Parts: sequence; structure tokens; C-alpha cells
Amino acid sequence: MIKKLLIANRGEIACRIIKTANKLGIATVAVYSDADKHAQHVQLADEAVHIGRAPSKESYLDMARIMAAVKQTGADAVHPGYGFLSENAAFASLLAKENVIFIGPPEAAIKAMGSKSAAKQIMEEAGVPLVPGYHGDEQQEAFLQKIADEMGYPVLLKAAAGGGGKGMRQVWSAEDFSSALAAAKREAITSFGDDIMLVEKYLTAPRHVEIQVFCDTHGNGVYLFERDCSVQRRHQKVIEEAPAPGMTEALRKGMGEAALNAASAIGYVGAGTVEFLLDSDGSYYFMEMNTRLQVEHPVTEMITGEDLVEWQIRVAEGRVLPKHQDQLTLSGHAFEARIYAEDPAKDFLPATGKLECLSPPQQSRYVRVDTGVVQGDEVSVYYDPMIAKLIVWGENREEALRRLLNALSEYYIDGVTTNIPFLSKIAASEPFQQEKITTTFIETHYDTLFPGDLVLPPHFLPAMAMLIVQTRDGAVTASKGSNSPWSLNNQWRLNSHVEQTVTLAHGSDTYEVKLSRPSHQSATAPVTWHAQCQQHRWEVSACVTDDELLITIDGHQQRFAWSGGQEQFTLFTTAGNVVFEPVLPDLGDTDSQQAETGFEAPMNGTIVAVMVSPEQQVKKGDTLLIMEAMKMEHNITAPADGQVLAVFYQPGELVDGGETLLEFKANE
Ligand code: ADP
Repeated sequence: MIKKLLIANRGEIACRIIKTANKLGIATVAVYSDADKHAQHVQLADEAVHIGRAPSKESYLDMARIMAAVKQTGADAVHPGYGFLSENAAFASLLAKENVIFIGPPEAAIKAMGSKSAAKQIMEEAGVPLVPGYHGDEQQEAFLQKIADEMGYPVLLKAAAGGGGKGMRQVWSAEDFSSALAAAKREAITSFGDDIMLVEKYLTAPRHVEIQVFCDTHGNGVYLFERDCSVQRRHQKVIEEAPAPGMTEALRKGMGEAALNAASAIGYVGAGTVEFLLDSDGSYYFMEMNTRLQVEHPVTEMITGEDLVEWQIRVAEGRVLPKHQDQLTLSGHAFEARIYAEDPAKDFLPATGKLECLSPPQQSRYVRVDTGVVQGDEVSVYYDPMIAKLIVWGENREEALRRLLNALSEYYIDGVTTNIPFLSKIAASEPFQQEKITTTFIETHYDTLFPGDLVLPPHFLPAMAMLIVQTRDGAVTASKGSNSPWSLNNQWRLNSHVEQTVTLAHGSDTYEVKLSRPSHQSATAPVTWHAQCQQHRWEVSACVTDDELLITIDGHQQRFAWSGGQEQFTLFTTAGNVVFEPVLPDLGDTDSQQAETGFEAPMNGTIVAVMVSPEQQVKKGDTLLIMEAMKMEHNITAPADGQVLAVFYQPGELVDGGETLLEFKANE
């Protein structure tokens, strides 16, 4: 029996594991880096040990330090979560040597699946269908290109050691092969220290369907059905669901059994996921096996009612699986949306910063939020920028999807750019609602999902103006404890002016909203104002609490969450976050202070390659420079035909976010 569990991870998954350990009466130990001193996982655990500096290599990936924490606390088991050391065979072996239980598969199984090439070899022998391609040792560029030429384009280059969508490049023609191979190898070296490549036929519109398997040490194995993780950006999952839309009983059984074959071929024990690509004709191909708990395991928990971390702990204790295949049932439908600090409009560039406002939707038996951060925490450059996982359940897909949309509209985050509006757009889109999903969903529906800048609905203007004046005049009522905020009667009328003009800036536009009110109004009814901007007029009354704006515009009552104050405000609307600033008349136009945007580094990183020299003429879209940040390559491209005047950095140099990288002049 496990008595004390050390969680060799951080963030939401560490918190998630602690919850189950608490439920089972197992004491918990957290480990933390300099950046995580005050993190939630540290606060939730019974004990916590500092293991080093913020960069993962010096803390969460440092086996010796983690081992020292195990010894110091007397933990008898380690749960690695996902990422970090979870699929590291040497770590499993180190723990085994010290007689500490590793909550994961045997070392040999991790090794077998650790390389995508070796895994494909094993699966081929076990008769599991594979994506066509080359997964051998020969790595000469000419040889790999010959394979690709013969197979026909498009092909996908994949790092054998890959994970998280890194070290992967699509190649659409023979001419692009060489540069794509170089880029994939570079990314593979930075992320995994190994650049062995696989060449696969690139399926143009498959679905990603994966099977959750579980095996115990007594030779039992079950599959807990499937998850559809087709909606991806950069080959990384964004929204997952279970069961997979359109799945038939026969296909489920076929894929489930193929997955169990895959697991038994490597003597698997514990939780594992066998990933397949499912083609439109119902054929499926093994892609890889993840020998750990997946990020998206909660959707399986929602439809089966099982706690997968509890299953992992039982298996690790040497007990039999809690259920046989025929005792497992599938009920309803679940979605998981990954809430990331990133900017979808800037090619999903990871964002960092302080979570000034973080207010998740109310949790219930239908809505679950797995997170490791609270308001005031930082999203740092050191770790994955996922803020939370929002998981919902419904009797059927339609009901679950409605809950997902509703919960997304009640997820308020400010201070850091997030993908919440983007997730809402996906969930609300017709093809998603109609189950028309493939791994190219985001590219295919780009125009629907990125409809340009948010056009400000005019009625937001009086809402913005009322929020500015009421907060400025101190007419904010505490929201806590008031049952019906609509009946709140704040005192704003007493000291406010009868007429005033509010100037506000939204994006690059400035608006003047004129507010006026009759000088005599009843002392008890909310004050009604006339608001006017450009050709629009509205009748408005509003009440502001410290987190909500309750506003009636021309008889339409609405409620918006808000955050910020004084210099900048954010209104959370279903159309996205509306950010605006009051403009004080004596400060002049904020537009004139805006510097022209140049070629600034989007974040802290390293210059990987400089593709141009000074005075070189380039075409619009040409790559000028490649930088690497958060283990991903970012291309800086020419916005127009023009000339590069100067390049300020050399390959290998570190740059801070915001630094100017080069000087460019567009052709007249
Ligand atoms: P990683 O381990 O980096 O996550 P995977 O091998 O699991 O990489 O692939 C990630 C995603 O890339 C898949 O879910 C799928 O969308 C896409 N993908 C992988 N292989 C292929 C392929 N041969 N054809 C088309 N898409 C693919």
C-alpha cells in the first residue's frame, strides 16, 4: 500500500493527482522550482520540497534532485504526471533501484514506445496497422528524400523522439524537402536532443482517435473507449471529446482490441493511450503509444465515471484492475477545452504575464475545471502556457456542447491573452456542431474562426462609458452577498454631473460618448441616462459591482463581467474581451503616442537562423529570421516586398521580447 506519494510535476496535473491521493488517504509531497514557490500544487500538498531553479532542466527534469526529495520525505511512490519525466525510462529505473514505486509502466515498455520508429517496428510485428512510411535507421538526407519522392507528396517528417507536436514538418513538394528536414531536425535537437527522423505519408484529412487502455500486473487489460482529439493547432490538441462522433460499436471494438494488442506486445502495465489516425473510409493506423496519463484523460473519466488516477495507484500497488471490460459502460458525452495563454491571431504565439483577473465558471457535476493557477499568478516563459482545462458533460453531444459554450462565456481571464474567444468560435461553428471534424479543422475553417478584427457592436459604447464614469466616481457596490444585483441602488446619482462627455479608446479608434440625465428623477428608481455617440442614441441605466456591470440599454437588461479600472478596462462579452481605455482630454490623443510597429522579438528567445543579409531585396512572406522561444521556432517574415536595411542579431544570440531584430523598408 502506498502511504506517501511524491508528485514529480507541477501545475494542474499535480493538483489533479493530489485530489485523488487525498481521497484515498495517501499523504502527498509536492516539488517546486523557484518560479513555483507559491503555486497551488505546493499549497495543496501535505509537504513540499524545493528542487531548483525555474528552468525545467534545473528542477522538474532533474532526476537527482527529485530522488533526493523522495529520500528526504520518505515517499514510497512517485507519480510523474505527464510531460517532464513521465516517459523517461532512466527515471523509472532509478526509482526501481531505490525500491520506490513508479506510477507508470515498466521501464522496458517506456523504452519500447520512447522512439516513434522503434514503436512502429514493434507494432508492425504485432500486426497493428501503421501509417505508411519509413521508420528505419538510415538517416542520410538523400535517402530520406528518395523515400518521400517515391511515396509521393505530401509527407510528414517526424522526430522519432518527438512529442507535443514538436520536430514535425509537413512537406508538400520535393523542392521544400531539404529546408523542412533542416527545420524539423533543429527543433528536434532543441526539444529532445535527438534528431532521428521518420517519414510518413501525410494523410490530408484524418481524425485523431485514441484509445485509453489500462493493464494490471496480473495479465488483465481493458480499454476505456476512445477520445477524439482531432481539433488541433500545430499538431497539438485544443478540444477533445469522448465518445468520438460517429463511432460504431464494431469500430470501437476493433480499435479497442488493436490498442490492447499494442499494449500486450510490450508487456504494458498501467494507464496508456494508443493513438490512431482514422481515415474517412474507416481505416485506422497506429501512430504512437503514450505511456502515461494524458492531458485529456478527464473526458474519459466523465463518460465512464471512473477516476483514472485512482486506477493508476491501484495498479501500482499490485492490485487487479477495478473492472472487467464488460463492466465498463459509456454514458453521455464530454468535451475538454484547453485554455491557453496564447494569441490565436498571432499564429498561437504563447503569451506570458500576470493573471490580473481569473474567474472560472461555477463547477458542478457537469462542469469541471482542472487548473493549477489562481488570480494573481504568473504565466511564465518556463513552462507550458496552459492555464486550465475546462471539462463538461451532457446526456448527449448537443447538450454537452451547449454547456461548453456557456461555461466558456463565463470564464473571465484578464492580464494575459487567452484562446477563450477562439475556443468559443470553434464550439459555436457549424462544422464543429455538425461533427465535421478532422485534424485540419482549424486550417480548413480559418475564415470562420478568424473573422478579422472584432467589430465593436455600437451598444457596447454606452456600457463602456457607464463603467468608466461609475468606477471613476466611486459608485461601485460590493457584489458579495447581494441576491439580486438588479435591485442594487447605488448612490452614484448624488454627486454625478447632469451632463458629461466620456472619451474612450478601443483599439485604434476613439469615441466620444455624451451622457445626460434629467435633473429630477425619483430617488428610488435607478437613474436613466441618455447616451449618444455618433449617430446612435440609447436610454441607459446601470449599476456597477466590483466585478459586474449590470446595464439596461433601451429596455434590454444585460450583465457583463469586467476587470481592470482607471487606466484600462476589460468587458468580458460573448464576442470576446473588449478592452478599452478612458482618454483624459488633457493627455491628447493616445494614437499619436503609438510607435510604428517594427520587427520586434515576440518574446524572449534565441536567434536560430538569419536568412537574409543587409541590403538584400526580399518578397512579401519571405522568412527573414528564425527565432526559437518556448522550444518552438517562430519565423519572422517580410510583410511586403522590400529591402532589409540591417540585421541586429547573429544566430545563437539571446534576445529579449520587444527588442528590434532588424530594420526593413518596404518598396514604394
Ligand atoms: P506528437 O507525439 O508530437 O504529439 P504525434 O505523432 O502524436 O506527435 O502526431 C500529432 C498529430 O499530428 C496527430 O494527432 C495528427 O493530427 C498529426 N499527424 C501525425 N501523423 C500524421 C500523418 N501521417 N498524417 C496526417 N497527420 C498526422
